[in-house]
Amino acid sequence: MLYKSIVKKLAPLVLVSGLALGGFALATSTEDPAQADPGGKSNAKIKNVIFLIGDGMGSQYTSAYRYFQDRPDSPYTEDTAFDDYLIGMQETYSWDEEESVTDSAAAATTMAAGVKTYNGAIGVDVEKERVKTALEIAKEEGKSTGLVSTSHVNHATPASFGTHNESRKNYDEIADDYYDEMIDGEHKVDVLLGGGTDYFEREDRDLAQKFQDDGYSYVTSRDEMMSDNNEQVLGLFAPEGMDKMIDRDEDTPSLEEMTSSALDRLSKEKDGFFLMVEGSQIDWAGHDNDVVAAMSEMEDFEKAFEEAIAYAKKDKHTLVVTTADHSTGGMTMGRDGEYKWDPEPLKAAKRTPDFMASAIADGADAEETLNKYVDLSFTEEEIESVEEAADGETEEIDDAIEKIFDLRSGTGWTTDGHTGEDVNVYGYGPQSDAFSGLHDNHEVGKMIMNTLESGRTQMK
Ligand SMILES: [Zn+2]
Repeated sequence: MLYKSIVKKLAPLVLVSGLALGGFALATSTEDPAQADPGGKSNAKIKNVIFLIGDGMGSQYTSAYRYFQDRPDSPYTEDTAFDDYLIGMQETYSWDEEESVTDSAAAATTMAAGVKTYNGAIGVDVEKERVKTALEIAKEEGKSTGLVSTSHVNHATPASFGTHNESRKNYDEIADDYYDEMIDGEHKVDVLLGGGTDYFEREDRDLAQKFQDDGYSYVTSRDEMMSDNNEQVLGLFAPEGMDKMIDRDEDTPSLEEMTSSALDRLSKEKDGFFLMVEGSQIDWAGHDNDVVAAMSEMEDFEKAFEEAIAYAKKDKHTLVVTTADHSTGGMTMGRDGEYKWDPEPLKAAKRTPDFMASAIADGADAEETLNKYVDLSFTEEEIESVEEAADGETEEIDDAIEKIFDLRSGTGWTTDGHTGEDVNVYGYGPQSDAFSGLHDNHEVGKMIMNTLESGRTQMK
């Protein structure tokens, strides 16, 4: 670590000539208009909207991820894919009688429908009345629509765009809504990708079959998704939430692959499309106070973001807005009075602590498991801390492994719930300027709804 910080300080002196040449080459060789105009800020009419939500992605997560993906041998910290597109911030509080810090349902409903509501509300206002969502407006306007998430697709964020329920917990009713609620005789969501077979292949109602009867493809593996090109698809890749990116097997698509598959299908509609993509489990990692999982899910989300930006750069009539619904866990870069946050131990993990804890709970040896899935030499004390926990619940083993990563990296946590700070807003494409500065989340929702109705962020 000492070595690395010296390299960081010395390298600018050594590399001055190299940097100057590199800068010159960049300025003359690129013809990508986005280089000259990183925001892609034309005033063109908007045909398509891609709205990406990093659930729980407070600015601690985007900052920590920048350190995490930094190349240690270069003088300055490399930008993440998000950084060039940072244009504003968003307030996130909900209108809840008891809780001022939002949950995902209230925040998603507000961003989907432009109205503040109570925690737990899915597409309904404080009176529990249904509110029209951006996705519904898009469908009414003849656009194709998609929801992509790594949670089950009937979980709070996607549900708030495509369904209505007074409680996020009514998972079966929410799944039913996706099938039962029609607009102009059509199902509302053309492309629905994520987890959730438990809710769509039920004994009391086989929604997966019903969607197929109505012409949808039904895919449950990465290969099936890739080889299918039907414009309407239900893709469910896990019983509930999908595995974290670093725990996934080959049968499970990445968020990037799901986003790409969705864009291929949705872009066939000549009237345009609306696509919401959620990096659902940045938040779940935060609830679990698991910084390894948090970095895994940030990477998964970043790749999906890059896919969306690449599409928009080619298309030129696509608005990309990316933000978070709230932050989670009260994560800090630095803890216990030490001026240090080091991502290197986190990069050494090949699986999440959850994955390792399950293996140990199933009888695997603690030391062997740690050595198999983490490229670190553990101290005796660290191994003992996991061995002691191994007699207890899986959660205790998980906590013990997480603690090793927290202490080694200098990551702190203050809560297993959400926190109320403002969150970053990233934008690209025509009229993305409208999202710059500070907005409340209901204003972000309204601008997206306006865009889908008129091609303009603001009502004329
Ligand atoms: Zn959330």
